[in-house]
Amino acid sequence: MYDLHVHTTASDGTLTPEEVLLEANRIGLNGLAITDHDTVDGLQAAKDLIHEKGIEIAFIPGIEMNSELDEEEIHILGYFIDDQNKAMESRLQEIVTLRKSRAEAMVEKLKVAGLDLSFELVQRYAGGALVGRPHIARAMIHQGYVNTVSEAFRLYLGKGRPGYVPRYKFLPNEAIELIKNAGGVLVLAHPGLIKSQENVLRVIKMGMEGIEVYYPKHSTKEIKNYLALATEKKLLITGGSDFHGPGSSEDRNALGSAGIGEDNLQRLMEYHALK
Ligand code: AMP
Ligand code: ZN
Ligand code: FE
Ligand code: FE
Repeated sequence: MYDLHVHTTASDGTLTPEEVLLEANRIGLNGLAITDHDTVDGLQAAKDLIHEKGIEIAFIPGIEMNSELDEEEIHILGYFIDDQNKAMESRLQEIVTLRKSRAEAMVEKLKVAGLDLSFELVQRYAGGALVGRPHIARAMIHQGYVNTVSEAFRLYLGKGRPGYVPRYKFLPNEAIELIKNAGGVLVLAHPGLIKSQENVLRVIKMGMEGIEVYYPKHSTKEIKNYLALATEKKLLITGGSDFHGPGSSEDRNALGSAGIGEDNLQRLMEYHALK
């Protein structure tokens, strides 16, 4: 089994790239892709560890870019991405900065709402990486303002709640260009989470090369439909768990709870090799 959708502490996961790899090895995965949100910062550490320890696991460097189309979240996965790509690096650095000021603005708004949250603590939870609402939520728990991450979202951090500040907007086309330029294979993430299936078709038309068919929240019927769609549109088939680690936001799925087998991995590898 190859789990091609995994987050680490480089974005909002709770395990470091090293811990994820060791866990993957422990449970006997054949391979995995690290696909952190809008960052490639965890990839080098993972590659180094595999090299140093001689871990026998297929590793695919990836990214998951969050974009928005007509107010709807569209996540685009990029596989075999070159983490040294300059254009990508500079755009991703901008995102880090934008996210930091957004988090500061959220902490300000929470102050107005009567919560005296320490921004330093928020940053400590982010671990120097991309700051997001899950890190703010953890700081809120730490300071005793809420009991759980979902409570933090429900009362303060969700859209329309007192601490909410919208994130920078990234259009699918921009994410697609960046991934393409960095040599990545473009895959539409968890299409079942996209409300408008018309948007799914629109994004596929923008240049998707694959579709994430196997995903913990996809029903048997959705899997069947997306397999048919993959055949119809000649798309690669991928899958992954969207693992975020223990204690992460939402009760996420276990590592290896979704993925692909040898056949689909071979197709993906061959496709990339011939690009
Ligand atoms: P951000 O990118 O900072 O806007 O945060 C988005 C992240 O927050 C998502 O990737 C989820 O992991 C998490 N999240 C979003 N909504 C909720 C929710 N209702 N409860 C818990 N976590 C959530
Ligand atoms: Zn996440
Ligand atoms: Fe996603
Ligand atoms: Fe994800």
